[in-house]
Amino acid sequence: MLNVPSQSFPAPRSQQRVASGGRSKVPLKQGRSLMDWIRLTKSGKDLTGLKGRLIEVTEEELKKHNKKDDCWICIRGFVYNVSPYMEYHPGGEDELMRAAGSDGTELFDQVHRWVNYESMLKECLVGRMAIKPAVLKGMLPKSQVTDTLAKEGPSYPSYDWFQTNSLVTIAIYTKQKDINLDSIIVDHQDDSFRAETIIKDFLYLIHIGLSHEVQEDFSVRVVESVGKIEIVLKKKENTSWDFLGHPLENHNSLIPRKDAEDTYMKNSYIRKNINQRRETFIFTFSPNVVGLYYRKCQLISKENVTHDTRLFCLMLPPSTHLQVPIGQHVYLKLPITGTEIVKPYTPVSGSLLSEFKEPVLPNNKYIYFLIKIYHTGLFTPELDRLQIGDFVSVSSPEGNFKISKFQELEDLFLLAAGTGFTPMVKILNYALTDIPSLRKVKLMFFNKTEDDIIWRSQLEKLAFKDKRLDVEFVLSAPVSEWNGKQGHISPALLSEFLKRNLDKSKVLVCICGPVPFTEQGVRLLQDLNFSKNEIHSFTA
Ligand code: FAD
Ligand code: NAD
Repeated sequence: MLNVPSQSFPAPRSQQRVASGGRSKVPLKQGRSLMDWIRLTKSGKDLTGLKGRLIEVTEEELKKHNKKDDCWICIRGFVYNVSPYMEYHPGGEDELMRAAGSDGTELFDQVHRWVNYESMLKECLVGRMAIKPAVLKGMLPKSQVTDTLAKEGPSYPSYDWFQTNSLVTIAIYTKQKDINLDSIIVDHQDDSFRAETIIKDFLYLIHIGLSHEVQEDFSVRVVESVGKIEIVLKKKENTSWDFLGHPLENHNSLIPRKDAEDTYMKNSYIRKNINQRRETFIFTFSPNVVGLYYRKCQLISKENVTHDTRLFCLMLPPSTHLQVPIGQHVYLKLPITGTEIVKPYTPVSGSLLSEFKEPVLPNNKYIYFLIKIYHTGLFTPELDRLQIGDFVSVSSPEGNFKISKFQELEDLFLLAAGTGFTPMVKILNYALTDIPSLRKVKLMFFNKTEDDIIWRSQLEKLAFKDKRLDVEFVLSAPVSEWNGKQGHISPALLSEFLKRNLDKSKVLVCICGPVPFTEQGVRLLQDLNFSKNEIHSFTA
């Protein structure tokens, strides 16, 4: 049984009072936590008022259901009666009412696109839209679509395939030179083959039901100079294939990534078919036509890092190629009493010091996470209960941090609070080993107490070994013996800490932690005349 507090949620001082993007969460009444909602959905109560019938909903019908006690919302073509959910919605009733009787997809994506609404609201499903309003609304004239593509989209990628007696090679021509092994995610299961290529702010999807069986493992090669990716599959039987396979959902599509800048969001809900080569090439403006893809990963090890934070190691299946780029996060998904719950986490390296690192494992099959267990939280206690050998679903990466920010970088400042340290781990490793121009890295690490500091001794050893690194710990609730820095993020702490090496040195400040910490930090950095380009804040 989960231990979920029943007083108002979130607790008055909980970090969960502010959602990502600074949106305030509202206090919920007693008995209206997420766990209470899950219980209600399992109670067998008719939540739609339709006694389990699913109907086709016209736009006119949808519009009529626009009151609190009769509120229907369409998300991605599916209509939900959200009236029973009103009191459980962490963003409050008013937030839900903004989409009452209409298509709430865009609003939903702006606020919490990762939330697994299909699972959370499955008992509220009324039916499908008779005609998808998304397609009707916002259709731009042809010329505008083409112009936008020409100006903002990458040149069309394409793919081809060829075979030998024992191998099938799928070649993806990205027509971009800045691609690497992080740019391609491959999964195949049974006969379904899926390759997502990240090309700038777009995702190019190859999704095929293969015509013949292949072995589980495969290799991926990138020819950076020409922007070509080769995926080499091993045939199960050495026979000649007449064709590669049949197209599956969204095959050969170019899709704006969910975390791409607003440009593409403004143009959402447009689909355009463009005849390209032998097949129909689909350019999809709708940001969520392709949801995040999950694969099951096995828990390999779990070790205590602090009293409440653990290092989890997950192993990717052999049929997956996935490397999470620096500064990006993934979503972990677990069923909790029958409902799929999803939360974001930022992969780290196995350690900060090479002598602690496991020998380099083939094909980057392992993903590490530093995760704080909130004993009264929903997801982390469940994660903590997993046994070695159990499985958890891991999504493809998301995030808008770009490694190009490190080019010619001289001064790197990292402001981390609590588990907001996680994106800094890979950044530290990368900056200290791969950026020749780097002169100084300074980490200011905010925690409540000394016991909360993640990897303190590794950080101290690294700073001792590499004189370019300075680490400063700041405690907000120290014991009286603590003689280091104390307090919360403040102008006094920052102005002293953020001294550039030279007047015009190239600087980057990365900041991550609880939302109020990050928001306050960004304001202070702006007051200290750091430009927008010099600041990167990590949020969902
Ligand atoms: P929640 O259920 O969200 O609870 C969190 C807090 O609210 C706890 O303090 C809990 O006591 C309190 N609370 C819960 N229910 C109630 C109630 N009914 N009444 C009063 N108080 C209540 N975290 C990491 O540890 N590592 C990472 O690498 C990491 N990466 C992240 C990356 C991104 C992009 C983002 C946005 C977040 C990241 N997080 C990370 C945070 C993570 O996603 C979760 O928010 C965190 O693990 C808490 O999840 P939970 O479901 O266990 O807790
Ligand atoms: P915590 O509660 O232990 O607090 C750590 C420090 O943060 C405190 O000592 C204090 O200095 C500062 N802090 C906390 N609340 C503050 C406030 N209201 N105003 C100013 N400063 C404040 O932190 P935690 O429990 O480890 O939480 C870490 C947070 O970082 C979570 O909210 C998590 O979602 C977030 N996080 C975000 C990302 C990301 O966006 N990429 C990655 C990892 C963690």
